[in-house]
Amino acid sequence: MRALITGGAGFIGSHLSEALLDAGHEVFVLDDLSTGSITNIEHLKTRRSFHYTIDTVKNEPVLAELIDRADVVFHLAATVGVRKIVEEPVQTIENNVHGTEVVLQHANKKKKLVVLASTSEVYGKNDAVPFREDADLVMGATLKHRWAYACSKALDEFLALAYWKEKKLPVIIIRLFNTVGPRQTGQYGMVIPSFVRQALANRPITVFGDGRQSRSFTYVGDVVRAILALVEHPGAVGGVFNIGNGQEISILDLARKVKTLTRSTSEIVTIPYEKAYEAGFEDMQRRVPDITKIRELVGYEPQVGLDEILAQVIDYFQRH
Ligand code: UDP
Repeated sequence: MRALITGGAGFIGSHLSEALLDAGHEVFVLDDLSTGSITNIEHLKTRRSFHYTIDTVKNEPVLAELIDRADVVFHLAATVGVRKIVEEPVQTIENNVHGTEVVLQHANKKKKLVVLASTSEVYGKNDAVPFREDADLVMGATLKHRWAYACSKALDEFLALAYWKEKKLPVIIIRLFNTVGPRQTGQYGMVIPSFVRQALANRPITVFGDGRQSRSFTYVGDVVRAILALVEHPGAVGGVFNIGNGQEISILDLARKVKTLTRSTSEIVTIPYEKAYEAGFEDMQRRVPDITKIRELVGYEPQVGLDEILAQVIDYFQRH
């Protein structure tokens, strides 16, 4: 298979690139390095089947040429990270909506399979966990920029499903639940790299809100395995799939766990949301995936639990 990965120099994209190369496929990466980084793909550069282009998906002639060469397009390029989304709402909406629009348009010309990376954030303030793919999406007010990300991704999903319905463009939509692992940076606010870096430096571990909100973290290797299984299954086309791990933990317990595992002397402090992000910021209290659909289709089961994930992330930051 010849795979085009937009956002292939990002955290998830670089792991996906590696897995595809290991499986004997040819990989083309398109990345503008806005949140991705060359260091993520440095170790892949010497591999014969690996090619990369530093450019944005919005450069349509470049995008069109790369899609033309590919059999499958993994569209991972997007503005991500709660802090970045709150601080750069225009870029978030334009990148996430327009980027997907042009990818689908060009893929449609020769009906190339598109795997669209969406997010568990689309479930929004729905509190009926675990979330099934057909659950309602519950968004907050447009005055609260956090929801622009969920809405931009929900619109991407609508558009991809519309291409499938109306034009028979094959698409697969994946909703990722807090993907974590080595190479994820804490720069844009993601909690595990932030906590690990703080703990290793014996700086205060910053829990936002009261820390009772919870998340279920998914190992990036489990996510990549799930994506590859879906691509190889004809029954996945036209579907929306949660990819996650049901193991839930509160953010306060996560902070304690990171502190213990790093043997840190850090103090755990709570910071009100309005100081961490902006006034009126709304968080999700719980976010747990129902993975019945992907399990039944391809036999997906997450294999790496939180302790092992944290051990790997700690080791990564100790070496870098
Ligand atoms: N969080 C935190 N401290 C940090 C970064 C994040 O307490 O330094 C919290 C955040 O408020 C949220 C959870 O950790 O409740 C997960 O945040 P992240 O940005 O990693 O992902 P999200 O699930 O919000 O998209």
